[in-house]
Amino acid sequence: MDKLHAQRRIEELKAVLRENSRLYYVENAPVMSDYEYDTLMHELEALETEYPEYATPDSPARRVGSDLESGFRKYPHKYPMLSLANTYSLEEVEEFADRVAKSISDEFTYSCELKFDGTAICLTYRNGTLFRALTRGDGVQGDDVTANARRIGNIPVKLKGEGWPEEFEIRGEVLMPYESFERLNHEKELQEEQPFANPRNAASGSLKLQDPEEVARRGLFCTLYHIPAGQVDYPTHNSALEAAASWGLPVSDHRRICRNISEIEQFISYWDTERKNLPYATDGIVIKVNQLDIQTRLGYTAKSPRWAVAYKYKAEQALTPILSIDYQVGRTGAVTPVANLEPVFISGTMVRRATLVNEDQIRSLDIHEGDWVYVEKGGEIIPKITGVEESKRMPGALPPVFPKVCPDCGTPLVREEGEAKWFCPNSSGCPTQIKGRLEHFVSRKAMNILCGEATIDQLYSKGFLKTPSGFYSLNKYQLLNLEGWKDRSAERFLDSVNASRNVPFERVLFAVGIRFVGETTARDIARHFGSMDAIAAASEEDLLSVPEVGDVIAKSIFNFFRSVDNIAEIEALRAAGLRFELGEKAARASDSLAGKSIVISGNFSISRDDMKALIEANGGRNSSSVSGKTDYLLAGEKPGPEKMKKAAELGVKIIDEAAFREMVEMPDQAGHDEIEPTLF
Ligand code: NAD
Repeated sequence: MDKLHAQRRIEELKAVLRENSRLYYVENAPVMSDYEYDTLMHELEALETEYPEYATPDSPARRVGSDLESGFRKYPHKYPMLSLANTYSLEEVEEFADRVAKSISDEFTYSCELKFDGTAICLTYRNGTLFRALTRGDGVQGDDVTANARRIGNIPVKLKGEGWPEEFEIRGEVLMPYESFERLNHEKELQEEQPFANPRNAASGSLKLQDPEEVARRGLFCTLYHIPAGQVDYPTHNSALEAAASWGLPVSDHRRICRNISEIEQFISYWDTERKNLPYATDGIVIKVNQLDIQTRLGYTAKSPRWAVAYKYKAEQALTPILSIDYQVGRTGAVTPVANLEPVFISGTMVRRATLVNEDQIRSLDIHEGDWVYVEKGGEIIPKITGVEESKRMPGALPPVFPKVCPDCGTPLVREEGEAKWFCPNSSGCPTQIKGRLEHFVSRKAMNILCGEATIDQLYSKGFLKTPSGFYSLNKYQLLNLEGWKDRSAERFLDSVNASRNVPFERVLFAVGIRFVGETTARDIARHFGSMDAIAAASEEDLLSVPEVGDVIAKSIFNFFRSVDNIAEIEALRAAGLRFELGEKAARASDSLAGKSIVISGNFSISRDDMKALIEANGGRNSSSVSGKTDYLLAGEKPGPEKMKKAAELGVKIIDEAAFREMVEMPDQAGHDEIEPTLF
């Protein structure tokens, strides 16, 4: 690769890794498998080593991914909280052992441990009491999650035994066991909320909740594995952990002291199968030099300790036959082939379908009908087909024929130059595209309207809804017209439509569904231009001045605002009262709660987030804990006993949901009783 190409590739890798790191750490919603991420990271590291002139200090290869979020107090870590060098190859583990042996002449051992797949936490104990809990943050400072850590059952607030230093830090992982994860996702599905993709995301999302009572309900637990050297007077990592366990701290027993590479490999191979029987997720083995003085001598790189390496297990694979192939049309018209598989169990869940990505991928994998294929599940990611077992191919089997017309509306498909996918060009008439756009519009990261696929299907097939702006003129009668809808569900739905008027502009821009404009791009563009009108008026050149916006995105945005249909829809959304400017104050539903501080507790007929949005839409302020300044404690079903007690002690008025509903104006509810349903 020449220098120019290397520089371009480095920039490209940095942008891709940064975006995926944000999706992973902050949004808890990765779209790439860890293996893919790590492969790209290794490519970046290799290029930066070869071309050090292009390696910048802010490169993802030199920094730990950051989980910092606004809304949390930040504190510096006493010792940086770093990542681990990782590998998927036993050879590289051997190289690590050789490297350490070469630089250290003393005798030493390794501590081999499970690599727990949760979210890192740093606990500080002062005088035997839990003083502070921080997330890893950006490695230098972390978010203060002490109130939440106190509600994790196995984190002791007070230490037992003796011999603990006056103040020390201990680090570990917060995990969500599979059982709690399944329960939480089941609850989310009942609430029509987006389920968590995997237990790691669920654990890190839960640790960042602003509601410690909810954290307590989530069934998290903690396992601790590191006391930074220099804080305790023990010769080895292992003896320090044993002492920590004697103080009542949760330390995993699944460790082993190994003397050489063959013992390390035995440990790796034992847990390769045995970890599947654990009730929580692990993604590898961590191999650490056990002697603390040697750890200190080996020190750290900018990103990880030199005295440890993580061996990561590759995503689990299974071999299963393809039963049939569906061709799915997405909201942008792109047609994706999806294989229906003979159901197979992978990483704790049953897999029935896997993506085949596009026509080229089918060809490059050389898929034939009925083939037995290797399927991989990288955590959250839609399972992928990674290879074909040709020895099992049926004689005479043919490659699948990619459709020439849209499987939904029959319009001939087009594939433009440079595009990997075939498209249905009938964007305004193809039902799947219309429904796909509506689904995107209501999704949690867009307008967060309480509405699943089935509801959209019902509304669309009745003719009640065709464009996103249609949500804002739906009325209760229309909803009661739908099968299975009752007063309560209609009200919940309309409340969430109403609350969506307060969604910030950057999310509105994402919600309108401009092709190639994902969440981050929408945010960057919104911040750059400040308003919908400024974006609509921008030339392609203006759009290109936004960092990370290239030709394709600029063209797509420019064209979007040149379509008569799109402009009409944008105007209809403006008329519905959505935020079209950055930082614009919420369109208020009413001022009935102006100046009131409200704490909510328990469960309501709508999600807690929607309840909070409703409070704000009516001028109120949400507060997380009850104090003398609280005006109301809004108590749903099963409110937290501590909040109830405190409110009673302080004389804070406790109201239930019915009383709350009387206090706030509910325009979609109040007026519609007299209105006849209208079809449109
Ligand atoms: P990591 O998860 O590979 O390893 C470091 C972490 O391991 C530590 O911070 C700690 O939290 C944890 N850990 C678990 N058990 C441990 C033990 N016994 N001892 C010490 N530490 C232990 O590194 P990371 O920096 O947290 O994350 C980087 C990794 O995250 C990447 O390698 C990638 O696999 C994944 N990632 C994926 C995406 C994606 O889009 N899929 C994006 C960003 C990061």
